[in-house]
Amino acid sequence: MVPLNRRDMLQLSAACGLSTAIGEAAVSQQAIAADSAITPAVREQSPIQTRMFWTWDHSTEWALNRLGAHTHGSCNEYGRTTQSFIDDYSALLRWCGRNDVDAVVVWGLLRDGHGGLEAARRLCEVAIKENVRLLCGVGLNAYGGVYYEGNSPYNLERHLQANPDLYAVDANGDSTNFSIDAIGTRVSLSNTSTPGPRGFYHACPSRTENQEFVAESLTWLFKNLELGGVQIETGDTGVCQCSLCRDRRKHPADTFSWEDMALMYPLAAEAIRSVAPEAWIVCETYSHPEPYQGPKAAPGFGDGKAAWADESLEKFPRGVFIQWVADRYLRQGDPDRTWTDKGRVSGNGLRHVMRAHVGTDWGWGAFRGEVALEWIAKMVQQSAASGFDGISLFGEVSTFHTGAELNYLALADFGSSENPQSDQDSFIERIAGPLLGGPSHAVDFVSFAGLLDARFPDRRKDIPTAIASIHGRLAAMPPDIARRWCWLANQLASFAYV
Ligand SMILES: [Zn+2]
Repeated sequence: MVPLNRRDMLQLSAACGLSTAIGEAAVSQQAIAADSAITPAVREQSPIQTRMFWTWDHSTEWALNRLGAHTHGSCNEYGRTTQSFIDDYSALLRWCGRNDVDAVVVWGLLRDGHGGLEAARRLCEVAIKENVRLLCGVGLNAYGGVYYEGNSPYNLERHLQANPDLYAVDANGDSTNFSIDAIGTRVSLSNTSTPGPRGFYHACPSRTENQEFVAESLTWLFKNLELGGVQIETGDTGVCQCSLCRDRRKHPADTFSWEDMALMYPLAAEAIRSVAPEAWIVCETYSHPEPYQGPKAAPGFGDGKAAWADESLEKFPRGVFIQWVADRYLRQGDPDRTWTDKGRVSGNGLRHVMRAHVGTDWGWGAFRGEVALEWIAKMVQQSAASGFDGISLFGEVSTFHTGAELNYLALADFGSSENPQSDQDSFIERIAGPLLGGPSHAVDFVSFAGLLDARFPDRRKDIPTAIASIHGRLAAMPPDIARRWCWLANQLASFAYV
């Protein structure tokens, strides 16, 4: 049994999606496409063209003071109400529409527990109104399929339960399905007494019945929801090792498979485009583009690109976004993981999006709502220099939390025509300063927030001094500026409080 840290699980990603008839969906997507086409010329000249948020439904908390949000994780049960789901994402989508964030990925978009298709339809209406693309997270061989949870024929668990011969198997022919318990250990799916993720189910990608299920599900999704697109994944919690899959693959695969992506992404894209030709399709790679140097036979989540990745990428559909992950090369401090010129991505009909787990409590030394300007700047700078024109961050935390607000505004600003070099001083001067009482205050704000940087634990001894300094400023500040400083004071205090 492999101990699996709960946080490690979360590097996994992962699930789901309707209205109206094809005609209406097509019209709305065309409307979005048309708006994109008239993007101001200044934006066309900026290094970063596309900005996205990535979210799980169960952890997204933009409607404050409601019950039931998780602060962490993937594949959890949904603990909020349908109204909270709609209010959370309506607030998030509105913020994006007003702050130049182009798309929001929702994993768990379709669940019976928060209103199923009808609630998702409401969010599509908000997204269209705000000119933001709502992207359904869809696991092709894992993560619930198109309809993440519920009594739908397009739910992957239900499909597999009805057709048990279509499950993925390990090299011994045993099930690859699992759950994890409260301390992060893999457990059998039959152990239902522990809280946590709902379980991880895997389909064999080689079976044509599963391929047809994916195509049929995606066609249904876009016939019934006015989505802006999808983020699709083949799964990074284990791959099928049946004889069909082993004979098909030329290269090793452990937690995920480039060859499975090359098999599934084209057929998924074909199904989507048969209904929604303008839909954005974001294809996850679970990888960093820097060539992987070993020692594992097959690189894992967040590791560098496998030696055989390029031949798989050649088989990916054209016109899609390829999504990569930065963390191990961004903030892990590993001298063997440096992003070099070898880690450039090529266009060749593909656009590339880099994402990182900053500002979220998914391991990687981060915590939810941290001020992560340094990391976001570095990611955007390196990405822009390496052929990327898209950036994605987690967007689950409300902008009431000033750390998240600053991170999101940095996402909007870095790599833009206003700040093509992702200069933090420029951001402080133009954007953070007015929100925090002026540039010099803003410099202090970022400095104080840095006392929580996990790389420098000794800094935390300075927290009491910083809090005293903050309290001394509050009386002279207007309410909204004081509120942001109060957030930081209490955030710091929470790390010093015993
Ligand atoms: Zn298989």
